[in-house]
Amino acid sequence: GYRSRAAFKLIQLDDRDRFLGPGAVVVDLGAAPGGWTQVAVERVGASGRVVGIDLLPMDPVSGSTLLEADFAADEGLEALRREIDGGEVDAVLSDMAPELSGIKVADQARAMELCELALELAREVLRPGGTLVMKAFQGEGFEELLRALRAEFRSVAARKPDASRGESSEQYLVARGFLGN
Ligand code: SAM
Repeated sequence: GYRSRAAFKLIQLDDRDRFLGPGAVVVDLGAAPGGWTQVAVERVGASGRVVGIDLLPMDPVSGSTLLEADFAADEGLEALRREIDGGEVDAVLSDMAPELSGIKVADQARAMELCELALELAREVLRPGGTLVMKAFQGEGFEELLRALRAEFRSVAARKPDASRGESSEQYLVARGFLGN
């Protein structure tokens, strides 16, 4: 079984947009408790590679490398860079969400900041043609984020998988065909 209900969101996204092919190298941002990691490992197979990172400790997922670190801090980013080791990544996934303070404006700003960091990593490590998938919340900064993605990817879609129904304003942005630097 999967460790999270969120696993079914990734299954639905990938069934539609097919970014987790056999042999793919995948980065999973905000991976705990590991549902997306499990799905990614299954789909990329033994010739693929999955590197996950989360603030929270996680039980190992066989076939993946998991880092316990803050992706928004230098140490986290550095640890991830070391794992990727200059190799090209086929897909950057982010299901990161900030811990909610209840103050809407602040929560939205922090969520957007995580999206921007995910985009920055994608720029640095994605191969041309690669895919970036991230959770984003409709609101301040959302349209601007879409515009930024559209400038750097061949196609960008905002998806709401069935498994995500009822979960507030979250959407998954699927940006395919990274144009490269
Ligand atoms: N996709 C996961 C799964 O299927 O099991 C669920 C991810 S959960 C919705 C969001 C995660 O993002 C949380 O575990 C949280 O700790 C993580 N997160 C938030 N900010 C982070 C950061 N700065 N660095 C690393 N992880 C972060």
